Amino acid sequence: MKTPIIFANWKMNKTLAETEEYFRRFLGRARKYAGKAEIFILVSHTALAMAADLVRDSEVKVGSQNHFWEDFGPYTGEISAAMIRDCGGRYALIGHYERRLYFHESLDHIRRKARAALRNRLIPVICIGVSIEERQAGETGSVIKRQINLVFEGFTASEIETCYLLYEPYWAVGAEKPAEPSEAQKAHSMIRDELRAGFGKQAARDVKVLYGGSVRRDHVLEFLAQPDIDGAGVGRAGLDPDSFLEIIEAAASVAA
Ligand code: PEP
Repeated sequence: MKTPIIFANWKMNKTLAETEEYFRRFLGRARKYAGKAEIFILVSHTALAMAADLVRDSEVKVGSQNHFWEDFGPYTGEISAAMIRDCGGRYALIGHYERRLYFHESLDHIRRKARAALRNRLIPVICIGVSIEERQAGETGSVIKRQINLVFEGFTASEIETCYLLYEPYWAVGAEKPAEPSEAQKAHSMIRDELRAGFGKQAARDVKVLYGGSVRRDHVLEFLAQPDIDGAGVGRAGLDPDSFLEIIEAAASVAA
């Protein structure tokens, strides 16, 4: 039996007033899933300190969607993992598909950001993704292998055990339908195989690997039923407290 991990990525959405309203509607009802699901919400930097304050007395945690790899210094406009921790963030999303697409984040950037997150006691949620072209060319395995090897270069097995990975097939992000759970399972199993080869059995077993891409209440259980899927990252359906709670409720039934 696993405790599913369910998180929402709000992306570039919600003002302070909207953030407050969301948590007001969400927190009381989320309380009954304490111990049955690990829940966190990745808010914008501008709302992080307030959101951390709002969730202070609950089991729900908050985190960020991006950060720079240095802690302080002359990097105008950037925000560091140290600052996120200081604001009350506990999780740090790294290398999301949209950051790779619009901001040209490389695997080296992702590796450095993951190191910064660990250094500042944040749980890195590191995105691993495959494009539709790579999938059609039968390259899913080699793409996953390359990403794992470059992102985790120089990491120890025990550092990897504390990371979360988010597998997102790019064609399923913001799409009508998610990937087939059995296809996602294959990719997750490849991720663990690669980690086993590089870092040993324990790292491959203990690292949390989540699925992301058009997850809704209707199919979250099918994903969680796969042996190598520990949870789900939710985009659009996490913007509304009711639809996010429906996903959490379904997921929590796995642990009940
Ligand atoms: C995402 O962008 O990470 C995501 C999973 O979005 P959606 O659920 O809207 O596909």
